[in-house]
Amino acid sequence: MQHHVSLALVITTLAAVPSIAQQTPTTPQTPAAQGAAAPAQPPKGNPKDTEQWEPVPQVVTPGQTDAAPPSDAIVLFDGTNLDQWVNVKDRAPAGWKVDNGVMTVNKAVGNIETKRSFKNYQLHIEWRIPPDITGSDQGRGNSGLFLASTGAGDGGYELQILDSYNNKTYVNGQAGSIYKQHPPLVNAMRKPGEWNTYEVVWTMPTFNADGSVKTPAYVTAFHNGVLIQNHAELKGETVYIGKPQYKKYESGPIKLQAHGDKSEPISFRNIWVRELEGPAASGSR
Ligand code: MG
Repeated sequence: MQHHVSLALVITTLAAVPSIAQQTPTTPQTPAAQGAAAPAQPPKGNPKDTEQWEPVPQVVTPGQTDAAPPSDAIVLFDGTNLDQWVNVKDRAPAGWKVDNGVMTVNKAVGNIETKRSFKNYQLHIEWRIPPDITGSDQGRGNSGLFLASTGAGDGGYELQILDSYNNKTYVNGQAGSIYKQHPPLVNAMRKPGEWNTYEVVWTMPTFNADGSVKTPAYVTAFHNGVLIQNHAELKGETVYIGKPQYKKYESGPIKLQAHGDKSEPISFRNIWVRELEGPAASGSR
C-alpha cells in the first residue's frame, strides 16, 4: 500500500513540473534550451519611454454608414449635379446625364474629370453595369477610374471598370485591374443591375527635378469590401499598347472614362475623396 501511494506522488509531481517550470523558472536556461518559445523576460525600463502623445490625430466624424462621406471628405458627386466635373475634351461643364441621383456615361461627350487636382487620397465610388448590358470581353460595360489624369484622352493611371460578371477577358484588363499592369487579386464583381463599390488609396509617384522617378505610385483597393489591390506598385501610366512609362506631374484630376465600345453606358453615384497630407500620405512614420 505504501508503495502505491509513493508512486502516485511521483507521477503527480512529474506531471506538475512542466507547468511550474513555465510559470516560475528556477534555473537559468541557455538560449538553445529556450528555443523559439522562450518565456518573456520581465520588462525592464520605463513603459512611458515608448508612449507617443503628440500630435493628436484629427477627429473625423464618420458617415452614417461606411459608404457615406466622412466629415473631412470632398464630395465629388452627391446625386444632384456635376458641378465638380468638366469634359476632358473642351473643359465645358460635364455633359453626362444626371437622373434619380445617378450619373450615366454619355459616350458622345467622352471622358469627364474633376475640376480639382489631387495628390494622395482615399476615394469612394459606386458604379453599376446596366441590367440590359450586351457585348463581351472589353466591349461590355467598359469604363475606368483614372486615379490621376495626366493629359487628354486616357492619359493617366486607370483602375479598370468593366462588367466582369461571367465575362472573360485578359485578366490585367478585367474589373479591378490596374490596366495592363496588375490583375485584381480576386474577382468580387456583382451582377449587372447591382451597385459595385471601390474604395481606393492612391499614393502618387514622386519625381526628381530632372523628371526621373523618385518613388513609384501605389494602389490599394477594395471591390465591394474585398481586397483586390494590395499596395500594388505601378510601372508607370496605364497604356493600351506598349510598356508603361512615368511622366512627371505635380497633381492631377480624377477622371472617368467614356469607353468607345458599343455596349450600354454604365452609371455612377456617391463619389467622395479624402486628401491625405503629410506623413500619412507616404505611409511612413
Ligand atoms: Mg476602361
